[in-house]
Amino acid sequence: MSAGVGTGASSGVSGGVPTLLGLPYDGASSFRRGAAAAPRLIREALRSPSSNAWSEGGVDVGAVTALADAGDVDLANVADVRGAIESAVASVLRGGLGRPVALGGDHSVTYPVLRALRPSCPALTVLHVDAHPDLYDQFEGNRFSHACPFARVMEDRLADRLVQVGIRTLNAHQREQADRYGVEVIDMRAWASGARPEVRGPVYLSVDVDALDPAFAPGVSHREPGGLSVRELLTIVQGMDGPIVGADVVEFNPGQDPVGLTAPVCAKIVKEIVGAMVR
Ligand code: MN
Ligand code: MN
Repeated sequence: MSAGVGTGASSGVSGGVPTLLGLPYDGASSFRRGAAAAPRLIREALRSPSSNAWSEGGVDVGAVTALADAGDVDLANVADVRGAIESAVASVLRGGLGRPVALGGDHSVTYPVLRALRPSCPALTVLHVDAHPDLYDQFEGNRFSHACPFARVMEDRLADRLVQVGIRTLNAHQREQADRYGVEVIDMRAWASGARPEVRGPVYLSVDVDALDPAFAPGVSHREPGGLSVRELLTIVQGMDGPIVGADVVEFNPGQDPVGLTAPVCAKIVKEIVGAMVR
């Protein structure tokens, strides 16, 4: 895979070419692994002739000027996975040429992505769409579990605001953590009553595919009924005001996707994210 970044990009965090970066890692998963196989299948679905490459808003995501691809980071045999992710994202960002669109992998990858991104984004809101708040101080003894990334993000002040949407698994500990870090949680009950995220200024979008109802996206490790529809998620993506400085789509588990329904859902989300980034 070629980097394809280099022409026509303006400088600054919101001017770089959206750049796919595969992060095939599921070593921080609890319960069930498999998300490491996702990046290849999301790319395949993106390029599948079953659809065209245009976003609904009229951006040709198939054009090299709209979307570059930095390939996958080799994480299979590295000792420092988070360090490798952080430096790969820093390479995408170098010179303001690229904006990362990371393909997970489990949700633990978001913390090192944001570590790399934060220095170039002095004002940053993170919009986190997920069934789970991922705010555990530690999970099964691991502070870097996929159940913990947003606790680390808030501890390290990698975001000025953390806004969560789609949440439907808050327990007492994570409610405490949300209060401690001032997380703005729009849980599914609030969503159903009409609450919507209000985000201004530069934003990083982190999409855990299990935010969707498993009826729409069964290929996840932790199926949690009662979630968003694909249409609702696309409306969130398309309605974002501020410049999108980076994004990730994580937790697609191809081993749990027997009819191949979830890969095209992920590809559609990526397409609309890229469309929203360059519009
Ligand atoms: Mn998550
Ligand atoms: Mn989740």
